[in-house]
Amino acid sequence: MSEIIIDTYLCSGCETCVEMCPDVFRMDPVSEKAELLTTSPVITDEIYQAAAFCPEKCIEIIE
Ligand code: SF4
Repeated sequence: MSEIIIDTYLCSGCETCVEMCPDVFRMDPVSEKAELLTTSPVITDEIYQAAAFCPEKCIEIIE
């Protein structure tokens, strides 16, 4: 099963992933870190791009 893991310790809260994939990522309003909207996402090219553009490189994709 596909999985996305966000290392919230490293996440800087830049919101790049949310801007690129708003149906997958959102900001946790309390921690101001990225979190997932779904636990079993379909891994699209946009998600790979968001992971590539993450400045902290803290989005891991497991397929
Ligand atoms: S792109 Fe990376 S650092 Fe920025 S909010 Fe998303 S997970 Fe956090």
